[in-house]
Amino acid sequence: MSIEALAEKARAGARLNEAEALEMYLSAPTPLLGQLADQQRWKRHPDRAVTYIIDRNVNYTNVCVARCSFCAFYRPVGSPEGYVLGFDEIFAKIDETIALGGGQLLLQGGHNPDLPLEWYEDLFRAVKSRYPAFRLHALSPPEVLHLSRLAQTTVPDVVRRLVAAGLDSIPGGGAEILVDRVRKLLHCYSKASADEWIDVMRHAHRAGLRTTATMMYGSVETPAERIEHMGRLRALQDETAGFTAFIAWSYQPEHTLLQGVEATAVEYLRTLATARLFLDNFPNLQASWVTQGAKVGQLSLAYGANDMGSVMIEENVVRAAGAAYCMDEIEIVRNIEDAGFEARRRNMHYDVLGGPVFRERQVPRLLELAVARADGHRSVPAELINYPARSRAERDRRTRT
Ligand code: SF4
Repeated sequence: MSIEALAEKARAGARLNEAEALEMYLSAPTPLLGQLADQQRWKRHPDRAVTYIIDRNVNYTNVCVARCSFCAFYRPVGSPEGYVLGFDEIFAKIDETIALGGGQLLLQGGHNPDLPLEWYEDLFRAVKSRYPAFRLHALSPPEVLHLSRLAQTTVPDVVRRLVAAGLDSIPGGGAEILVDRVRKLLHCYSKASADEWIDVMRHAHRAGLRTTATMMYGSVETPAERIEHMGRLRALQDETAGFTAFIAWSYQPEHTLLQGVEATAVEYLRTLATARLFLDNFPNLQASWVTQGAKVGQLSLAYGANDMGSVMIEENVVRAAGAAYCMDEIEIVRNIEDAGFEARRRNMHYDVLGGPVFRERQVPRLLELAVARADGHRSVPAELINYPARSRAERDRRTRT
């Protein structure tokens, strides 16, 4: 089919198959792709609202046995730079988040063999008992899978136990590209195959949880594999309708084993626009300003995105790989309004909570994103002594402190 015929099909709102989406991604002029994506975005979201959330990305541990080749964040078991946050440190982060108008933590971490499932249950219960209305958007599918292996129980059982302890929703991390050829090259096949990632999300949706979906593109995959990734997500969304949003972000190569170069802004915008056309059952597409910066993040609103993502407050993973963009609520709202939209604060379910918090009361400015811990902070949380460590290195460390 010609590009003009495919464009007509997209304008009519007809579903594109994978070959058609690939053809559009590869061959459609960038302004045309953007125009088509923008039309679909306006059909879905006819008001001028662009949403954002105030939450905080907290990485509870950087110790990880998965060792993905694209990751600059993790530290191996026994590394002096490895950390686990204490419950009190996490409470302090929640207090700061609430002070900035936030109501949720996005909580993810490494696959730490020395943190049993009970540690997560106790943490979630402790958070919910201190902050009953606060939301926990936590543990990507590979982390859930890691816990099911560690606890030698099923994924549905892990999900059930975590929900009983206070889990509210699951972030779509760890998807990278849902094609096993790519996952093997990125050394992330053993943490979760494409089928396993999809299965965890299927179980989460069946358990009543809403989740997001991500795609890390621009490493070793082909354009066809990007579309195949989106095809896996679209098929599950047809089945469960459990995804609230799709977030594409470009591989950040600095300090990684894999190395390479980062995808350009045009590649990002073309990928985003193609996603808006192809993922016709995803209501929301987020702009990834944390990897693209504020300016491309703002431009994303003309290429299919209807959401500016999170104020974030803290970020450790992307920063470790070289990207250190920061936008606080004032800056996010400025970018939304300058692009001709109205800014609306939302929760994870995309319920609108209101307008900008800084227009209701004074909030501190955030000029750079916080980190998990200050440099040199190496303390071992007191409560860890209550949990059995599997590795000898960690057993020794816990008994020394
Ligand atoms: S991406 Fe996640 S699972 Fe992979 S090495 Fe980094 S922390 Fe571990």
